[in-house]
Amino acid sequence: MPTDRLNFLDFDRSALEAYFIGSGHQRFRAEQLMKWFYHRGIRAFDGMSDLSVNLRGQLAEQMVFATPEVVERFDSTDGTIKWVVRVDNGNCVETVLIPENGRNTLCVSSQVGCTLDCSFCSTGKQGFNGNLSTAEIVGQVMIAKDALNERGQSVTNVVMMGMGEPLLNYENVLKATNLMMDDLAFGISKRRVTISTAGVVPAIYKLAEVTDVSLAISLHAPTNDLRSELVPLNRKYPIEALLDACRHYVSGLSDKRSLTMEYTLLAGVNDQIEHARALATLLRDVRCKVNLIPFNPWPGTTYRKPALKDTRLFQTYMMNAGYATMLRTTRGADIDAACGQLVGRVNDRTRRRERYLARVKA
Ligand code: SAH
Repeated sequence: MPTDRLNFLDFDRSALEAYFIGSGHQRFRAEQLMKWFYHRGIRAFDGMSDLSVNLRGQLAEQMVFATPEVVERFDSTDGTIKWVVRVDNGNCVETVLIPENGRNTLCVSSQVGCTLDCSFCSTGKQGFNGNLSTAEIVGQVMIAKDALNERGQSVTNVVMMGMGEPLLNYENVLKATNLMMDDLAFGISKRRVTISTAGVVPAIYKLAEVTDVSLAISLHAPTNDLRSELVPLNRKYPIEALLDACRHYVSGLSDKRSLTMEYTLLAGVNDQIEHARALATLLRDVRCKVNLIPFNPWPGTTYRKPALKDTRLFQTYMMNAGYATMLRTTRGADIDAACGQLVGRVNDRTRRRERYLARVKA
Protein backbone atom coordinates (compact mmCIF):
# COMPACT_ATOMS: atom_id res chain seq x y z
CA MET A 1 0.00 0.00 0.00
CA PRO A 2 2.49 2.68 -1.02
CA THR A 3 1.18 6.13 -0.18
CA ASP A 4 2.63 9.22 1.41
CA ARG A 5 -0.62 9.85 3.25
CA LEU A 6 -1.66 8.38 6.58
CA ASN A 7 -3.76 5.23 6.45
CA PHE A 8 -6.85 5.37 8.66
CA LEU A 9 -6.51 1.62 9.29
CA ASP A 10 -3.17 2.19 11.04
CA PHE A 11 -4.93 4.03 13.90
CA ASP A 12 -6.61 2.42 16.87
CA ARG A 13 -8.96 4.60 18.88
CA SER A 14 -6.33 6.18 21.12
CA ALA A 15 -3.97 6.84 18.20
CA LEU A 16 -6.82 8.50 16.30
CA GLU A 17 -7.71 10.64 19.32
CA ALA A 18 -4.07 11.70 19.56
CA TYR A 19 -4.13 12.60 15.85
CA PHE A 20 -7.18 14.84 16.28
CA ILE A 21 -5.93 16.48 19.45
CA GLY A 22 -2.52 16.99 17.83
CA SER A 23 -4.09 18.78 14.87
CA GLY A 24 -6.20 21.09 17.04
CA HIS A 25 -9.50 19.20 16.96
CA GLN A 26 -11.58 17.60 19.65
CA ARG A 27 -11.08 14.07 20.86
CA PHE A 28 -14.62 12.90 19.98
CA ARG A 29 -13.91 13.35 16.27
CA ALA A 30 -12.17 9.97 16.50
CA GLU A 31 -15.43 8.33 17.56
CA GLN A 32 -17.37 10.02 14.74
CA LEU A 33 -14.87 8.98 12.11
CA MET A 34 -14.72 5.38 13.32
CA LYS A 35 -18.52 5.11 13.31
CA TRP A 36 -18.69 6.36 9.73
CA PHE A 37 -16.12 3.92 8.56
CA TYR A 38 -16.65 0.75 10.58
CA HIS A 39 -20.37 0.93 11.38
CA ARG A 40 -21.85 2.64 8.37
CA GLY A 41 -19.32 1.48 5.79
CA ILE A 42 -18.68 4.99 4.44
CA ARG A 43 -15.25 5.10 2.88
CA ALA A 44 -15.18 8.66 1.53
CA PHE A 45 -14.76 11.73 3.77
CA ASP A 46 -17.28 13.66 1.63
CA GLY A 47 -20.17 11.63 2.99
CA MET A 48 -19.36 12.28 6.67
CA SER A 49 -22.00 14.93 7.22
CA ASP A 50 -21.39 15.66 10.90
CA LEU A 51 -17.79 16.72 10.24
CA SER A 52 -17.17 20.33 9.20
CA VAL A 53 -16.23 21.03 5.61
CA ASN A 54 -12.81 22.18 6.82
CA LEU A 55 -12.15 19.01 8.74
CA ARG A 56 -13.31 16.85 5.84
CA GLY A 57 -10.87 18.77 3.65
CA GLN A 58 -8.00 18.20 6.07
CA LEU A 59 -8.77 14.50 6.30
CA ALA A 60 -9.02 14.07 2.54
CA GLU A 61 -5.62 15.71 2.19
CA GLN A 62 -3.90 13.73 4.93
CA MET A 63 -5.59 10.35 5.14
CA VAL A 64 -6.69 7.43 3.01
CA PHE A 65 -8.60 4.22 3.69
CA ALA A 66 -6.35 1.60 2.13
CA THR A 67 -6.84 -2.15 2.51
CA PRO A 68 -4.28 -4.54 1.06
CA GLU A 69 -5.02 -6.03 -2.35
CA VAL A 70 -6.29 -9.60 -2.74
CA VAL A 71 -4.11 -11.42 -5.26
CA GLU A 72 -5.89 -14.76 -5.18
CA ARG A 73 -8.74 -16.51 -3.43
CA PHE A 74 -9.07 -20.26 -2.89
CA ASP A 75 -12.29 -21.98 -1.78
CA SER A 76 -12.02 -25.36 -0.06
CA THR A 77 -14.69 -28.04 -0.43
CA ASP A 78 -15.23 -27.75 3.35
CA GLY A 79 -16.12 -24.02 3.14
CA THR A 80 -12.71 -22.72 4.23
CA ILE A 81 -11.52 -19.70 2.22
CA LYS A 82 -7.90 -18.65 1.82
CA TRP A 83 -6.91 -15.24 0.51
CA VAL A 84 -3.43 -14.43 -0.71
CA VAL A 85 -2.97 -10.78 0.17
CA ARG A 86 -0.33 -8.46 -1.28
CA VAL A 87 1.43 -6.33 1.29
CA ASP A 88 4.43 -4.28 0.17
CA ASN A 89 6.85 -4.70 -2.74
CA GLY A 90 5.72 -8.05 -4.02
CA ASN A 91 5.41 -9.84 -0.68
CA CYS A 92 2.22 -11.74 0.04
CA VAL A 93 0.72 -13.19 3.19
CA GLU A 94 -2.18 -15.58 3.66
CA THR A 95 -5.42 -15.20 5.57
CA VAL A 96 -7.81 -18.07 6.21
CA LEU A 97 -11.52 -17.99 7.06
CA ILE A 98 -12.88 -21.11 8.75
CA PRO A 99 -16.68 -21.36 8.99
CA GLU A 100 -17.67 -23.90 11.64
CA ASN A 101 -20.77 -24.49 13.80
CA GLY A 102 -22.17 -21.01 13.20
CA ARG A 103 -18.83 -19.34 13.89
CA ASN A 104 -16.59 -17.64 11.36
CA THR A 105 -13.01 -17.82 12.59
CA LEU A 106 -10.39 -15.79 10.76
CA CYS A 107 -6.75 -16.82 10.96
CA VAL A 108 -4.66 -13.68 10.43
CA SER A 109 -0.96 -13.21 9.58
CA SER A 110 1.25 -10.75 11.47
CA GLN A 111 4.58 -10.94 9.60
CA VAL A 112 5.87 -11.74 6.13
CA GLY A 113 7.49 -15.09 6.93
CA CYS A 114 8.87 -15.71 10.40
CA THR A 115 12.24 -15.57 12.17
CA LEU A 116 11.59 -18.31 14.72
CA ASP A 117 12.14 -21.41 12.56
CA CYS A 118 10.10 -23.88 14.61
CA SER A 119 11.19 -27.26 13.24
CA PHE A 120 7.71 -28.47 12.21
CA CYS A 121 6.33 -25.21 10.71
CA SER A 122 6.70 -24.48 7.01
CA THR A 123 6.34 -20.70 7.41
CA GLY A 124 9.74 -20.55 9.12
CA LYS A 125 11.35 -22.31 6.17
CA GLN A 126 10.29 -19.44 3.91
CA GLY A 127 12.58 -17.06 5.76
CA PHE A 128 11.54 -13.58 6.79
CA ASN A 129 10.94 -10.21 5.17
CA GLY A 130 9.33 -7.92 7.71
CA ASN A 131 6.48 -6.91 9.96
CA LEU A 132 2.99 -6.14 8.73
CA SER A 133 1.61 -2.70 9.50
CA THR A 134 -1.52 -2.32 11.62
CA ALA A 135 -3.44 -1.54 8.41
CA GLU A 136 -2.18 -4.72 6.75
CA ILE A 137 -3.31 -6.79 9.73
CA VAL A 138 -6.68 -5.07 10.11
CA GLY A 139 -7.02 -5.09 6.32
CA GLN A 140 -7.18 -8.89 6.43
CA VAL A 141 -10.20 -8.64 8.74
CA MET A 142 -11.79 -6.08 6.37
CA ILE A 143 -11.38 -8.47 3.43
CA ALA A 144 -13.14 -11.29 5.30
CA LYS A 145 -15.77 -8.91 6.68
CA ASP A 146 -16.65 -7.69 3.18
CA ALA A 147 -16.88 -11.27 1.86
CA LEU A 148 -19.12 -12.35 4.77
CA ASN A 149 -21.32 -9.25 4.48
CA GLU A 150 -22.54 -10.57 1.16
CA ARG A 151 -23.93 -13.59 3.04
CA GLY A 152 -25.32 -11.52 5.91
CA GLN A 153 -22.65 -12.88 8.26
CA SER A 154 -19.70 -11.48 10.17
CA VAL A 155 -16.28 -12.45 11.49
CA THR A 156 -16.99 -13.89 14.95
CA ASN A 157 -13.47 -14.95 16.03
CA VAL A 158 -9.96 -13.86 15.11
CA VAL A 159 -6.86 -15.89 15.84
CA MET A 160 -3.42 -14.44 15.16
CA MET A 161 -2.22 -17.87 14.03
CA GLY A 162 -1.31 -17.18 10.43
CA MET A 163 2.19 -16.41 9.24
CA GLY A 164 4.62 -14.85 11.70
CA GLU A 165 5.15 -14.35 15.41
CA PRO A 166 2.66 -11.69 16.56
CA LEU A 167 4.61 -10.69 19.67
CA LEU A 168 7.69 -9.84 17.61
CA ASN A 169 5.49 -7.23 15.89
CA TYR A 170 4.17 -6.00 19.21
CA GLU A 171 3.00 -2.42 18.56
CA ASN A 172 1.16 -3.14 15.31
CA VAL A 173 -0.44 -6.33 16.60
CA LEU A 174 -1.57 -4.55 19.76
CA LYS A 175 -3.22 -1.73 17.78
CA ALA A 176 -4.79 -4.23 15.39
CA THR A 177 -6.24 -6.37 18.19
CA ASN A 178 -7.46 -3.19 19.93
CA LEU A 179 -9.44 -2.40 16.78
CA MET A 180 -10.79 -5.94 16.53
CA MET A 181 -12.12 -5.71 20.11
CA ASP A 182 -13.28 -2.07 19.99
CA ASP A 183 -17.06 -1.57 19.79
CA LEU A 184 -16.44 1.39 17.51
CA ALA A 185 -14.59 -0.87 15.07
CA PHE A 186 -15.10 -4.65 14.73
CA GLY A 187 -16.58 -5.15 18.22
CA ILE A 188 -15.45 -8.77 18.68
CA SER A 189 -15.35 -9.90 22.31
CA LYS A 190 -11.95 -10.27 23.98
CA ARG A 191 -12.63 -13.98 24.45
CA ARG A 192 -12.80 -14.30 20.67
CA VAL A 193 -9.66 -12.41 19.71
CA THR A 194 -6.56 -14.50 20.34
CA ILE A 195 -2.87 -13.74 20.02
CA SER A 196 -0.90 -16.95 19.52
CA THR A 197 2.77 -16.87 20.53
CA ALA A 198 5.73 -19.20 20.57
CA GLY A 199 6.54 -17.57 23.93
CA VAL A 200 8.07 -14.10 23.75
CA VAL A 201 8.11 -13.74 27.54
CA PRO A 202 8.80 -9.97 28.00
CA ALA A 203 6.01 -9.15 25.54
CA ILE A 204 3.52 -11.22 27.57
CA TYR A 205 4.29 -9.07 30.64
CA LYS A 206 3.85 -5.93 28.54
CA LEU A 207 0.53 -7.15 27.18
CA ALA A 208 -0.72 -7.78 30.71
CA GLU A 209 -0.44 -4.02 31.39
CA VAL A 210 -2.55 -2.88 28.45
CA THR A 211 -5.03 -5.45 27.14
CA ASP A 212 -7.30 -8.38 27.98
CA VAL A 213 -6.87 -10.09 24.63
CA SER A 214 -6.95 -13.91 24.80
CA LEU A 215 -3.61 -15.64 24.70
CA ALA A 216 -2.60 -18.94 23.12
CA ILE A 217 0.84 -20.37 23.85
CA SER A 218 2.51 -22.73 21.39
CA LEU A 219 3.87 -25.13 23.99
CA HIS A 220 4.20 -28.40 22.02
CA ALA A 221 6.39 -30.18 24.59
CA PRO A 222 6.45 -30.80 28.35
CA THR A 223 10.26 -30.63 28.78
CA ASN A 224 12.87 -28.02 27.87
CA ASP A 225 15.02 -30.49 25.93
CA LEU A 226 12.22 -31.47 23.60
CA ARG A 227 10.74 -27.98 23.39
CA SER A 228 14.08 -26.41 22.46
CA GLU A 229 14.33 -28.89 19.61
CA LEU A 230 10.88 -27.98 18.29
CA VAL A 231 10.71 -24.27 19.19
CA PRO A 232 14.26 -22.81 19.20
CA LEU A 233 12.96 -19.70 21.02
CA ASN A 234 12.71 -21.95 24.09
CA ARG A 235 16.50 -21.65 24.52
CA LYS A 236 15.97 -17.96 25.20
CA TYR A 237 12.75 -18.24 27.20
CA PRO A 238 12.51 -21.71 28.77
CA ILE A 239 9.29 -23.34 29.92
CA GLU A 240 9.53 -22.17 33.57
CA ALA A 241 9.87 -18.50 32.57
CA LEU A 242 7.10 -18.90 30.01
CA LEU A 243 4.66 -20.44 32.48
CA ASP A 244 5.48 -17.72 35.05
CA ALA A 245 4.49 -15.13 32.45
CA CYS A 246 1.30 -17.09 31.68
CA ARG A 247 0.33 -17.30 35.36
CA HIS A 248 0.95 -13.56 35.62
CA TYR A 249 -1.27 -12.88 32.60
CA VAL A 250 -4.27 -14.73 33.99
CA SER A 251 -3.79 -13.74 37.64
CA GLY A 252 -5.14 -10.99 39.88
CA LEU A 253 -7.55 -8.46 38.45
CA SER A 254 -7.52 -10.07 35.08
CA ASP A 255 -9.49 -13.18 35.98
CA LYS A 256 -11.57 -12.80 32.86
CA ARG A 257 -8.64 -13.42 30.58
CA SER A 258 -8.48 -16.63 28.61
CA LEU A 259 -5.36 -18.76 28.16
CA THR A 260 -4.92 -21.77 25.88
CA MET A 261 -1.96 -24.10 25.48
CA GLU A 262 -1.44 -25.21 21.89
CA TYR A 263 0.13 -28.62 21.38
CA THR A 264 0.90 -29.86 17.87
CA LEU A 265 1.01 -33.65 17.96
CA LEU A 266 3.98 -35.08 16.03
CA ALA A 267 3.99 -38.87 15.59
CA GLY A 268 6.55 -40.56 17.84
CA VAL A 269 8.00 -37.22 18.97
CA ASN A 270 5.62 -35.73 21.55
CA ASP A 271 2.36 -37.68 21.18
CA GLN A 272 2.81 -40.56 23.62
CA ILE A 273 1.04 -41.07 26.91
CA GLU A 274 4.21 -40.25 28.88
CA HIS A 275 4.17 -36.81 27.21
CA ALA A 276 0.54 -36.31 28.21
CA ARG A 277 1.37 -37.31 31.78
CA ALA A 278 4.28 -34.86 31.94
CA LEU A 279 2.15 -32.13 30.36
CA ALA A 280 -0.69 -32.60 32.88
CA THR A 281 1.82 -32.35 35.74
CA LEU A 282 3.54 -29.31 34.25
CA LEU A 283 0.30 -27.35 33.83
CA ARG A 284 -1.33 -28.26 37.13
CA ASP A 285 -1.21 -24.73 38.56
CA VAL A 286 -1.82 -22.85 35.30
CA ARG A 287 -5.44 -21.88 34.62
CA CYS A 288 -5.70 -22.89 30.96
CA LYS A 289 -7.39 -24.95 28.31
CA VAL A 290 -5.48 -27.26 26.00
CA ASN A 291 -5.77 -27.34 22.22
CA LEU A 292 -4.36 -30.37 20.40
CA ILE A 293 -3.41 -29.86 16.74
CA PRO A 294 -2.57 -32.97 14.71
CA PHE A 295 0.52 -32.18 12.62
CA ASN A 296 -0.21 -31.08 9.05
CA PRO A 297 2.57 -32.34 6.78
CA TRP A 298 4.19 -30.16 4.11
CA PRO A 299 6.70 -30.98 1.34
CA GLY A 300 10.17 -31.71 2.70
CA THR A 301 9.24 -32.31 6.35
CA THR A 302 10.35 -35.45 8.16
CA TYR A 303 7.61 -35.19 10.79
CA ARG A 304 4.50 -37.33 10.50
CA LYS A 305 0.84 -37.05 11.46
CA PRO A 306 -0.05 -38.70 14.76
CA ALA A 307 -2.12 -41.90 14.67
CA LEU A 308 -5.78 -41.28 15.50
CA LYS A 309 -5.50 -43.80 18.36
CA ASP A 310 -2.62 -41.89 19.99
CA THR A 311 -4.42 -38.59 19.50
CA ARG A 312 -7.53 -39.91 21.25
CA LEU A 313 -5.50 -41.44 24.10
CA PHE A 314 -3.65 -38.12 24.58
CA GLN A 315 -6.89 -36.15 24.62
CA THR A 316 -8.60 -38.56 27.00
CA TYR A 317 -5.62 -38.49 29.37
CA MET A 318 -5.68 -34.68 29.50
CA MET A 319 -9.44 -34.56 30.00
CA ASN A 320 -9.26 -37.09 32.83
CA ALA A 321 -6.53 -34.96 34.38
CA GLY A 322 -9.04 -32.09 34.48
CA TYR A 323 -8.11 -30.01 31.41
CA ALA A 324 -10.70 -28.84 28.90
CA THR A 325 -8.96 -30.32 25.86
CA MET A 326 -10.07 -29.61 22.30
CA LEU A 327 -8.88 -31.52 19.29
CA ARG A 328 -8.47 -29.17 16.35
CA THR A 329 -9.72 -30.77 13.15
CA THR A 330 -7.75 -30.05 10.03
CA ARG A 331 -9.60 -27.65 7.75
CA GLY A 332 -8.87 -26.41 4.27
CA ALA A 333 -6.17 -29.03 3.62
CA ASP A 334 -7.13 -29.18 -0.10
CA ILE A 335 -6.17 -25.52 -0.52
CA ASP A 336 -3.06 -25.67 1.74
CA ALA A 337 -4.78 -23.52 4.33
CA ALA A 338 -4.20 -25.66 7.42
CA CYS A 339 -1.97 -24.72 10.39
CA GLY A 340 1.66 -24.56 9.39
CA GLN A 341 0.89 -24.72 5.67
CA LEU A 342 0.73 -20.98 5.07
CA VAL A 343 3.65 -19.78 3.02
CA GLY A 344 2.56 -16.66 1.13
CA ARG A 345 5.25 -15.10 -0.98
CA VAL A 346 8.27 -13.99 0.99
CA ASN A 347 11.21 -12.10 -0.46
CA ASP A 348 13.47 -13.69 2.09
CA ARG A 349 16.04 -11.36 3.65
CA THR A 350 17.44 -14.00 6.00
CA ARG A 351 18.53 -16.48 3.28
CA ARG A 352 16.95 -19.18 5.38
CA ARG A 353 14.87 -20.43 2.47
CA GLU A 354 17.99 -20.88 0.36
CA ARG A 355 19.77 -22.80 3.12
CA TYR A 356 16.70 -24.90 3.77
CA LEU A 357 16.27 -25.85 0.11
CA ALA A 358 19.96 -26.77 -0.13
CA ARG A 359 19.55 -29.04 2.90
CA VAL A 360 16.38 -30.69 1.61
CA LYS A 361 17.92 -31.33 -1.80
CA ALA A 362 21.22 -32.66 -0.40
N1 SAH B 1 3.99 -17.74 15.81
C1 SAH B 1 2.73 -18.02 16.41
C2 SAH B 1 1.64 -18.34 15.39
C3 SAH B 1 2.01 -19.56 14.60
S1 SAH B 1 0.88 -20.63 13.84
C4 SAH B 1 2.88 -19.17 17.38
O1 SAH B 1 3.92 -19.80 17.41
O2 SAH B 1 1.95 -19.41 18.16
C5 SAH B 1 -0.28 -21.21 14.95
C6 SAH B 1 -0.07 -22.62 15.50
O3 SAH B 1 0.10 -23.64 14.49
C7 SAH B 1 1.14 -22.69 16.38
O4 SAH B 1 0.81 -23.34 17.58
C8 SAH B 1 2.09 -23.52 15.55
O5 SAH B 1 3.06 -24.11 16.34
C9 SAH B 1 1.16 -24.49 14.88
N2 SAH B 1 1.72 -25.15 13.70
C10 SAH B 1 2.69 -24.68 12.89
N3 SAH B 1 2.95 -25.56 11.90
C11 SAH B 1 2.12 -26.61 12.07
C12 SAH B 1 1.88 -27.81 11.34
N4 SAH B 1 2.56 -28.09 10.23
N5 SAH B 1 0.92 -28.64 11.79
C13 SAH B 1 0.21 -28.32 12.88
N6 SAH B 1 0.38 -27.20 13.60
C14 SAH B 1 1.33 -26.34 13.22
